[in-house]
Amino acid sequence: MGINDRMIFLTPGKDEMYVTKTPVEGRTCPECGSDDIARYPIGWVRGPRMVVKCQRCYHSLEVQRPAVEDNWPPFRAATYDWDASPAEGG
Ligand SMILES: [Zn+2]
Repeated sequence: MGINDRMIFLTPGKDEMYVTKTPVEGRTCPECGSDDIARYPIGWVRGPRMVVKCQRCYHSLEVQRPAVEDNWPPFRAATYDWDASPAEGG
């Protein structure tokens, strides 16, 4: 292994590229009527979120801000939950 092999971040293998989808009981998709609903982390245009989504038609039932126990994103900035500065936007 050369020094370049240690410095370049390679694409993670299949073992590391997965999403744990937690089944949600007692919910029904309003679009297709399926009860196969799951909650899992996503990357969203407004930042990392947890989504509650139908697994048959992928209709989003909810998009939630992740709680600390969701561990998403796994590497948070120390100021992640801080309120915006009063100087910002007056
Ligand atoms: Zn559906």
